[in-house]
Amino acid sequence: MAEMGTLHDAFLDELRDTYDAEKQLTKALPKMVKASTSAALRDAFEAHLEETRQQVERLEQVFASLDEKARGKHCDGMEGIIEEGQAILEEDFDETTTDACLIAAAQRVEHYEMAAYGTLVAWARVLEHTEAADLLQETLDEEKAADEKLSAIAEGGINQAAADAAHEGEDEGDQEADDEEEVGAAPAKRSSRR
Ligand code: ZN
Ligand code: FE
Ligand code: FE
Repeated sequence: MAEMGTLHDAFLDELRDTYDAEKQLTKALPKMVKASTSAALRDAFEAHLEETRQQVERLEQVFASLDEKARGKHCDGMEGIIEEGQAILEEDFDETTTDACLIAAAQRVEHYEMAAYGTLVAWARVLEHTEAADLLQETLDEEKAADEKLSAIAEGGINQAAADAAHEGEDEGDQEADDEEEVGAAPAKRSSRR
């Protein structure tokens, strides 16, 4: 009878998946650096690229702490998220909108990683792989910080600049006409968007 897999096996699977995801990201981030027009965003991506390379090495330390050879297993999730991010770059958006879209794509990546590392830390703790848990927690903290930094950059001007460009040429009169139209309008009638 074949032996059933345990949580330890599932843990190793997740580690291999995440190892591959991080490696995919080290190839995608340079493209995002190139595509960004804001200096702050470019710096953030460059800093996270460096961090990501360290996260790959940290995962190698995790494998070593478990006496396992470091190896990856293709992560379809990360591939999909990266693909969607790349599709944005093929669209002909204005500069700040491109930056806003790059941030949106990057935050999807960070949240995906936060979910992965959150699970890995929790499993490493219950399995009492303390060294692995501590290393994985370090990366989880970095992913959270990277996500927060991206929010700060988006909300620190990029989103507003993109929104201003989107509604450029709408004068006050226009705005008032919109407001009047909305008075007493049923919610269903308010679906028209610019
Ligand atoms: Zn174990
Ligand atoms: Fe990462
Ligand atoms: Fe990350």
